[in-house]
Order: sequence, then structure tokens, then C-alpha cells
Amino acid sequence: NKQYRLAARPVGVPKDSDWEFTTEALPEIGADEVLVKIHYASLDPAMRGWMNEGRSYIPPVKIGEVMRAGTVGEVVASNSPDFKAGDFVSGMLGIQQYGKALAKDLTKVDPKLAPIETYLGGLGMPGLTAYFGLLDVGAVKEGDTVLVSGAAGAVGSLVGQIAKIKGARAVGIAGGPDKCAYVVDELGFDACLDYKSDSFLQDLKEPLKAGVDVYFDNVGGEILDIALARINRHARIVICGAISQYNNTTPMRGPQNYINLLVHHARMEGFVVFDYVTRYGEGVKELATWYGQGNLKFRTQVETGIENFPAVLLKLFKGENTGKLVLKIIED
Ligand code: NDP
Repeated sequence: NKQYRLAARPVGVPKDSDWEFTTEALPEIGADEVLVKIHYASLDPAMRGWMNEGRSYIPPVKIGEVMRAGTVGEVVASNSPDFKAGDFVSGMLGIQQYGKALAKDLTKVDPKLAPIETYLGGLGMPGLTAYFGLLDVGAVKEGDTVLVSGAAGAVGSLVGQIAKIKGARAVGIAGGPDKCAYVVDELGFDACLDYKSDSFLQDLKEPLKAGVDVYFDNVGGEILDIALARINRHARIVICGAISQYNNTTPMRGPQNYINLLVHHARMEGFVVFDYVTRYGEGVKELATWYGQGNLKFRTQVETGIENFPAVLLKLFKGENTGKLVLKIIED
């Protein structure tokens, strides 16, 4: 069983020496436990935060521990009446070839409804993040202008599509013309602005001339300030993430334009998708319905080889992914 373990707490961008690649015997399963052969692991920006010491919404990964990650795979042995060999499941089994978990910590997935890796993306944690973040925290309504950063990524791509389903206008922000073309032409956003372009601030004007009712923030930093400068009365700013700041070696930069919250009677609220665990079923059901109707498109970027994990994780921070980034663990 090959595994990636956390060897050191990174300073800035994670380095190869922050990881240890180990090989161990397959784990034995105890009462009510299930052994899973992992097919795909989810690569998430949040993993960078889990590597840090300190108080957060979830304890840090310990030094020497297998790196935490969402996974999907196939049951190979089970001591639970709820799972049998051949079932496909999702769960937090980490960066390794095989993982075990208590039956209560695994969820069955249906490979007939969608390819199993979709349960790490649109029908998994990023999909639920977009769903509850936009509908519950963002309280989107018909006619709103929804601005979303990280628009070509796993969460952002769904935020704009759900906004459209709800009768809102969707404006994305993404890095580069190819990503913006994908967001508009394939995902159906009304506009997408390339924040790396010299004309970015100028380009924002036309699509945001009616102002911003919901800003769904995936990146933080300067883009959050640019969005705050354009909010409407009673705007909702959803703090989902701040990927531009995760590798900082200096404190995270807060918004300079926060006073616009006062001026426009607006609200800025953070959330963690795990807050909604009791409502996941409701979210997945609606996401699957929209997907089945052809109203939601999911894109998965599959990279291969467990040994490539450290390099593939960094793609998230370099903008080298479009859609949901996953690592294929199972060998062909
Ligand atoms: P993505 O698929 O969006 O991948 C990350 C993307 O971030 C990159 O492709 C890149 O796109 C963009 N990016 C990287 N660095 C920068 C930068 N310096 N400035 C601007 N953009 C940058 O990841 P996810 O969809 O999985 O996650 C999106 C956000 O949502 C993250 O902040 C994550 O932490 C957060 N999140 C929060 C959850 C919660 O419960 N609150 C749950 C899940 C995710 P580009 O090429 O456009 O720059």
C-alpha cells in the first residue's frame, strides 16, 4: 500500500521534502470496518490549510500521518452489513492506494448515474460547496448579478451554472482567455473576465454595470477588494476561500474596501461545507437532477500516478487546472 505522508509543515509553497512516500502492508479491518481500493483522490486547495499547525475548522494533519484527502474507490473487504465487495464508495481515505474506514464514514456512490470521479467534483464536496454557499449563504434570487472568482475551477464553475438555473446573471473571473472562453461558451456564464489581462479593471465595467448582488469569493486578496468596490445595497459576499493567500509567509491580506459593507448595508459571511453535512443528501439529489437534465456540466481534470501527488497538488496554486482536479490512484 503506497502512501503519501506529511513529513514537515510547509513554509510557503509545499516542497518535496515536506512529504514522505511510504509503502506498508494492507491494513487489517476490524468490527464494522470496510477496506477500499482507492481509484481517485480529490486534490483540494483546502489541503494546504490542513498542513498548517493551529486552530481551524478541522484539526491539522499530524506529522507522519497519511495526507488527508477525499477519495472514491471500490470495496474489497467489509465487516459491515451495509457494504459488500464491489460497491463503490466515497470517503476521506487519504493519499494512498488502499484505505479503511468505519462503515458510517463512507457513502455509497452510483457509477451508473455518473463516472465515479464525479463524486469528488460536481456530485461531491465542491458541488455541495457551490450549492449551499450560493443558495444558503448567498441567498441568490432571480435577477441578481452573481460575480464568482475561480470561475473555471471545481466550485466556481458550478456557482455560475447554479446562478443561471436560479434566473440570475453569472459573471466569472478566471485566469487567462482559454479559461474565460470555457466559462462562457461551455458553461453558459453571461461573461467572464481575465484577471491576468492588463485591461481587467476596464473589462469589468460593462458586465458589472448593474453592480454585484452576490460575490462568491474563492480567491481573496486583491480580487475581493475589486468586488467589494462594486457591490449593491444588501449585497451578500460569500467567503468560500482565499486561494491567493494560502501559501503566504506573511499574514493573510484582509479587504481594504470592507467599509463598503456599511455603505451598502451588505453582509460578508464565511462558511464551511461541512456545516451542511445533515443536508448533503438534499444537495446531491438536486445537483444530480440538474446534471441529468443537462443543466449542469462537470469537468474533471484527471492526472495520473500516486507518485506524482506533490507536483499535481501544486497545479491548483498555479492555475494549471480547469474544473475538478483529481489524481487517478488505481493503475491501469
Ligand atoms: P479550483 O478548482 O478553483 O482550483 C484552484 C484555482 O484557483 C486555480 O485553478 C486558479 O485558477 C485559482 N488560483 C490559484 N491561485 C490564484 C491566485 N493567486 N489568484 C487568483 N486565483 C488563483 O479549486 P476549488 O474549486 O476546489 O476551490 C476553490 C476555492 O473554494 C478555494 O479557495 C477553496 O479553498 C475553497 N473551498 C472552500 C470550501 C468551504 O467549505 N468553504 C470547500 C471547498 C473549497 P485561475 O487560473 O483562474 O487563477
